[in-house]
Amino acid sequence: MAGPWDAVLRDEAALRQAAVVAVDAALLEGVLMRTDAEPNASEVVSYAPFTLLPSAVPRALFEQAYAVQRDFNLLVDAISRDKEFLERTLARGSDSTTSLGGCATASLLLQRSTIKVDDFTARLFKIHQQVLEEGLAQSVFLGINRSDYMFDCGAGSLPALKQIEINTIAASFGGLASRTAAVHGRVLRVLGKPEEAARLLPNDPARGLAMGIAKAWELYGSPSAVVMFLVEEAQRNIFDQRCVENELWDRNIRVIRRRFRDVYEQGSLDGSRRLYVGGQEVAVVYYREGYVPSNYNQQNWEARLLLERSRAVKCPDIATQLAGTKKVQQELSCPGTLEKLLPGHAEAVKRIRATFAGLYSLDVGEEGDQIAATAIASPERFVLKPQREGGGNNLYGEELRQVLERIKDSPERTSYILMDKIEPQPAVNYLLRARSPLKASKCISELGIFGVYVRQGTELVLNEAAGHLLRTKAVEHADGGVAAGVAVLDTPYLV
Ligand code: ADP
Ligand code: MG
Ligand code: MG
Repeated sequence: MAGPWDAVLRDEAALRQAAVVAVDAALLEGVLMRTDAEPNASEVVSYAPFTLLPSAVPRALFEQAYAVQRDFNLLVDAISRDKEFLERTLARGSDSTTSLGGCATASLLLQRSTIKVDDFTARLFKIHQQVLEEGLAQSVFLGINRSDYMFDCGAGSLPALKQIEINTIAASFGGLASRTAAVHGRVLRVLGKPEEAARLLPNDPARGLAMGIAKAWELYGSPSAVVMFLVEEAQRNIFDQRCVENELWDRNIRVIRRRFRDVYEQGSLDGSRRLYVGGQEVAVVYYREGYVPSNYNQQNWEARLLLERSRAVKCPDIATQLAGTKKVQQELSCPGTLEKLLPGHAEAVKRIRATFAGLYSLDVGEEGDQIAATAIASPERFVLKPQREGGGNNLYGEELRQVLERIKDSPERTSYILMDKIEPQPAVNYLLRARSPLKASKCISELGIFGVYVRQGTELVLNEAAGHLLRTKAVEHADGGVAAGVAVLDTPYLV
């Protein structure tokens, strides 16, 4: 298939020169990351990896992804408020003996649920139950998510927008994505493509995310309270976060950065469960941490519970984090589930469902047995996903087959879901990474749309699509994002 850069790609000398300009442009624009060696110092920094050329994205699919984002915001919010749904999906497992396309199957005797076999989800779920039992002190809710898609060309059909997943906690790269288009614009001009450069879309998720945080802060209603970014011990991606932080300072909202450890040592609640950390009242807790088991030790779990019990606006609250699990994603694809969660939103349901790829439950039962057998026979058609985030956890091909063989008769299989493998059309690009030789790679891209919403009590006061992120990786890597060192930042060039 002809791409927009076919002619450009034939001139390797020009590309080499453009790559030098590109790296300097990235540094100047602030597309930065700390180094692996020194993730907590900014003395020596490097550029975040990125593509030399913007990647072609079908305009219709790009617009479709934007158009469905507010629906996904509604959906995530609805799930987070539906105690019964979360419980049924994650804790009770299937409770019916009837069989319904891989959904709600399982014999009563063999019931197994995700939280019975996945300790991490179980701990999150326990906090969720604890805070509900005590009664929520929080009345303002802020969601920042990123719905990720690939363009499926499987079976030679026209490309279709298919959701990979939705990230409801610590969705990253909105900051750096706000600065990447300028770099690609420069590259295209250097390569003699000024008109194409002018067509690159403006994109400012940093601003959109900050708007949501600012709104939540305002509704919390305590002008001296701060926004707390909850950050990891190793803070390689600090510049991405600083982009959002700076937007808040520009609105005269104070931001502090703290780790779970700091909350454990210096955090407390007052009589009305206002959160104080080191003597400062916290209006909004923005998690850029807390999404993988390795983020937690016993003290960090205690700190998490303290935060969740507080009146502060958590972005996300624990229910919203659970709404982003792979198991919930699979359950959403079951017939009737979306309709129940979004009554009176038939059009939204249609738009959402149109983005779903095939998703299959591995719950104990006949349907699970069947799909497990199909995947063992044709592993190349599927992706096997555990309840994990951050890239590098999924299983493909021969490895998928071996793992499924091993767990097919064990309740452990309930901790995974199966998904149809999306097959995007590869395109040639150059991936620019510090200290890597420049070479052409066959690449595929993943488009993310940021969603932001704020709810006060039962009223949604803000619901927006807040910008996009395009990430591109060489086809030989099945899995993994930018932070995992596999994908790189990119800019969509609409075709
Ligand atoms: P994580 O939460 O770890 O990011 P994802 O579901 O996004 O989990 O999977 C990680 C990566 O694996 C994705 O960025 C994508 O490259 C690849 N991937 C996930 N699901 C599929 C799929 N159905 N088809 C093809 N690739 C997939
Ligand atoms: Mg994820
Ligand atoms: Mg992902």
